[in-house]
Amino acid sequence: MQILVLNAGSSSLKVDLLDSHSGERTAALRAERLCTPQASYRVDGLSIDLAGADHAAVLQAALPALTAHPIQAVGHRVVHGGPDFSRPTLLDTVVVSSIAALESLAPLHIPANLAGIRAAMELLPELPHIAVFDTAFHSTLPRRARSYAIPQALGYRRFGFHGPSHQYVSQLAAKHLDEDPRDLRIITCHLGNGASITAVEYGRSVETSMGHTPLEGLVMGSRSGDVDPGILMDMLRSGKSIDEVDTILNRGSGLAGLSGVGKDLRDIEDRAADGDEACRLAIQVLTHRLRKYIGAYAAVMGGVDAIVFTAGIGENSALVRHRVCQRLDFLGARFDEDKNRDAQVSRTTPVVELHRSNSRVRILVAKTDEARAIAGAVAKVASGGETLAENPPIPIGISARHIHLTQQAVETLFGPGYTLTERAPLSQPGQFACNETLTVVGLKRNIEKVRVLGPIRPKCQVEVSRTDEFFLGIDAPVRASGDVTNTPGITLKGPAGKLTLKEGLICAWRHIHMTPADAERYGVKHGDTVDVAINSKGRDLTFGDVMIRVKDSYALEMHIDTDEANAAQISRGDVGALVSSGQGGTLLRRRTNFDPA
Ligand code: ADP
Repeated sequence: MQILVLNAGSSSLKVDLLDSHSGERTAALRAERLCTPQASYRVDGLSIDLAGADHAAVLQAALPALTAHPIQAVGHRVVHGGPDFSRPTLLDTVVVSSIAALESLAPLHIPANLAGIRAAMELLPELPHIAVFDTAFHSTLPRRARSYAIPQALGYRRFGFHGPSHQYVSQLAAKHLDEDPRDLRIITCHLGNGASITAVEYGRSVETSMGHTPLEGLVMGSRSGDVDPGILMDMLRSGKSIDEVDTILNRGSGLAGLSGVGKDLRDIEDRAADGDEACRLAIQVLTHRLRKYIGAYAAVMGGVDAIVFTAGIGENSALVRHRVCQRLDFLGARFDEDKNRDAQVSRTTPVVELHRSNSRVRILVAKTDEARAIAGAVAKVASGGETLAENPPIPIGISARHIHLTQQAVETLFGPGYTLTERAPLSQPGQFACNETLTVVGLKRNIEKVRVLGPIRPKCQVEVSRTDEFFLGIDAPVRASGDVTNTPGITLKGPAGKLTLKEGLICAWRHIHMTPADAERYGVKHGDTVDVAINSKGRDLTFGDVMIRVKDSYALEMHIDTDEANAAQISRGDVGALVSSGQGGTLLRRRTNFDPA
């Protein structure tokens, strides 16, 4: 699909017309210094002055050059989606006003984004316009990562930014490594003028350095990143105005503030090489903080499989990568200095390796392409109508805490030669609830009479809800059934003995079982994540991030755990409907097609 992607900044506008699949550009427009007498734009190799022009004026003037080619949809980068926009969303007047209501979260960016949206919607009214939010990829941050330790009633939380880039380069890295993103723990370092780092655990953002606003975290071009909030209070108390403090932290800090020579790292590197102490300190603070975050994010994920550098600094500064990656051997990351020196990414070679052949952790440079990431998300939404043409309701099953055992474990817990006995069949053919139950032994308390499910499995696994985790005092990750690598251990107590598992405690990833024929009908495949709308007790709810599991022997059913069922007041007999397919793509308004009756 040919997608027109708009990225409207406060005084700039970038427009790319590109193929969502190949990423190939058909046309590009770059406008600068908008709303000033020096306003100008470049398109088709021509540079044109348009004194005083705003976003609308530039678009209007340049549109004939851009729309000489057929366009199927328009994508708009929107910096902040607030708590509600966690997916790319089709724009209409209601959605546009909802975005306008988020202005206080990003006072510089949102008005600019809206100026681009309004101008393009007016000039191209016949095309679907889809907003892609910087914050959306981070909507999977667990509560513990998105919460500040301040009273929750104040309403502040962490959102994270640069989502399309983190998602795009993590997928690019997985593709390069010939692995599924859902099998990898990746740390992505987006180091441009704005900089952020994200822990992408099995395809989902679980921690990121930017917070409520894009000011938190790494050292950036002119933004401070992390500072003690006590400093702000001190500056205010010592007589600085709020605007002055804002200017210091957003425009006068980071590389610019430390070096005193501006925010361009190329200049800072040159001067540091000539002995400039302030420039040396700027590089040291930037790289030290990045190293600190990499160590922290490896700890958050219980390990790391790949570290990816991207954006202007990440793609180009061998010095920064060198300072960040030396002595990471303790993590299993062995850095190759020669490869680093020679690394050069381009559109044709978007990924280059920096690790030695014996490094367990892969270290990569990847060329980010935010317009392409946005075009990909837009194409998925724009084509959603076809994939979900047939959308029969899906029965919902509520899955209580339960245990899967190996034969060896059965014998340890119930006695030598013991075999499990069937109490009742389950909805999935061949699976059954057993008469046997066990005690799950936690750090704080135990849970008695947890049902064992048959048949026996190649690995032991204990599936509990979040509430159970707190009761037990053990933190379990959200995982697909069977994926127990790197999960916490747990002790089980049976009539004949105790068994301590080294790993196996999980909180089950909500999922839908289906046959290959079902998958074809819904236009999804094994491992996809989808949204499911459920109309329960008159409440219209959407469950995001539902994993598709496909097998010949499966019966169509969505499984959620008891916490989710309780929260959503779902009971036996309720049904759901797919509202989006594929990672990241969505069309929430399709919900209106859904009638559970
Ligand atoms: P933005 O966030 O504005 O898109 P970019 O991703 O273009 O920013 O990154 C800009 C940063 O990349 C600048 O600090 C620039 O100095 C740095 N950069 C670009 N090329 C190099 C290079 N060859 N060596 C060091 N830094 C570079």
